Amino acid sequence: MERYPQLVINLGHARENIRNLVRKCAEKGIRMTGVIKVVNGLPEVCRAYYEEGCKVLASSRIQHLKDLREKGIGEEFELLRIPMMSEIPDVIRYADISLNSDGSVLRALNDEALRQGRIHKVILMVEVGDLREGYWEKEELLRDALMTENDLDGLFLEGVGMNVGCYGSVLPTFENMQYLVDCAEMIEKAIGRKLDVISGGGTSSLMRVFDGDVPERINDLRVGGEPLVAYTLKHVYGYPMEWQHEDVIRMRAEILEVREKPSHPIGKLAVDAFGHKQVYEDRGIRKRAIIGIGKLDCGEPYDIPNEDPGIEVLGASSDHTILDVEDYGRDLKAGDIIELRIKYAQLMYMTSRNDVYVKYV
Ligand SMILES: *Cc1c(COP(=O)(O)O)cnc(C)c1O
Repeated sequence: MERYPQLVINLGHARENIRNLVRKCAEKGIRMTGVIKVVNGLPEVCRAYYEEGCKVLASSRIQHLKDLREKGIGEEFELLRIPMMSEIPDVIRYADISLNSDGSVLRALNDEALRQGRIHKVILMVEVGDLREGYWEKEELLRDALMTENDLDGLFLEGVGMNVGCYGSVLPTFENMQYLVDCAEMIEKAIGRKLDVISGGGTSSLMRVFDGDVPERINDLRVGGEPLVAYTLKHVYGYPMEWQHEDVIRMRAEILEVREKPSHPIGKLAVDAFGHKQVYEDRGIRKRAIIGIGKLDCGEPYDIPNEDPGIEVLGASSDHTILDVEDYGRDLKAGDIIELRIKYAQLMYMTSRNDVYVKYV
């Protein structure tokens, strides 16, 4: 008996996408760190990242790293979200590497590492313009790098990193990546040795790899959802990606009701279930299908990219998504299954629920 909603993951195609990206990075001297937070640490997918060449597995959540350790998947684990003071013992216990941007947190990590008898590696994040985490003043970056190198015996300064394309929508460019390299070289001069890692960003920085204008010394990128979702580089940034499988992940949901109804709500309108004022287009009587998946399962269903021209996502509430199926070629009825593409957000939400069933093909 199949159960829905369902995520269908083609592991073979996921592996091929990961392998190809790892190879393209390796050709430029870059290691790909496998970011597994978007699938909430699904073990089969994590194993795919690891076995296809991502030596370091990374997540923003310590729980994911703890689970991987306990399952024996992977060998080096990196915490992506700069640590909370309240989670320092677990950071040292479960992460080999963490990204950092605060001197007092570095000192707390050091104290805990000494207490646990471990050496914890840190990557200092440099703010290059996206305005999330990272040192803004070069002097402060240098000061904390020197402190880590000279005074904090429980920490090893592994390198520096940057992040773009998250809060500020900033693109990775030769210039902002070179700025990171300049910061690394400033630190190297002061500490008298080379840094092991210069981490030039996430998925979006792959554009610089494909265009061949990634600065020489960038040697790490942290790549997560793209080999699975296979959407952004091709459909947002226009890269051909002819080798990429686009059918790695699909969601399947069951139809609960199919009925012809007016397309504009009837009555005096106020706000929807989430307090938003909505606009509804009056297209007359249309055939609509309701599927058993909602915002609770997949966040905003409006941005599900639909390959099937006969199906349009009209909207959703917590547990229901409403589709316009007027132009769908085939008759639909309650109990039928609809398959849709998903993007990053839906993958993230759906893998975080234990009543969304994951099926590997
Ligand atoms: C999530 C994350 C990444 C990877 O992002 P994807 O979009 O999943 O490739 C890289 N770096 C940091 C700091 C992150 O939090």
